[in-house]
Amino acid sequence: MARIAILTCSNCTQETNCAAVVCLGDLRKRRGLFARYAKEEPLDLIGLINCAGCPTLAAPEKILRRVQAVAEFKLDALHFSYCMTALCPFIEKYQKFINESYPDLEIVFGTHKPIEKQEFRRGVKELLCPTICRPQTMTEMVKGTLEVPGKPLSF
Ligand code: SF4
Ligand code: SF4
Repeated sequence: MARIAILTCSNCTQETNCAAVVCLGDLRKRRGLFARYAKEEPLDLIGLINCAGCPTLAAPEKILRRVQAVAEFKLDALHFSYCMTALCPFIEKYQKFINESYPDLEIVFGTHKPIEKQEFRRGVKELLCPTICRPQTMTEMVKGTLEVPGKPLSF
């Protein structure tokens, strides 16, 4: 039995509310990057973690705080989610630091069936910074409520 965990990108699972349903569906059906496990082999998903966000160039080791939560529990493989592989500028640094701390842990780049990366990035950009029917930010809403035409706001 393989014991695995998935690390997702928080731009998708926190900012834009993905519940990793497609990752988990392909895990159950052994598709995408889960096709590497034999169908008859039991697969144990022991944890689903998300990156805590940009570590800056100063601290990519920050990822270890999240990874530790699964790596300390007899983990065989850690899957970087598809979205991480498409979006994350730190992915190779993360791999390096995780491998240094957990040399026996296999890191797999991907989860569900890959989507064309540029198209996926365009979609994520639109979710994060919408250009069509853009919802108001809180600042715009507050200013719009208080603003009187011709009178500058003062606080
Ligand atoms: S890889 Fe896809 S399904 Fe999985 S967490 Fe990321 S966006 Fe969601
Ligand atoms: S550092 Fe990478 S994985 Fe983490 S939130 Fe940013 S893009 Fe996503």
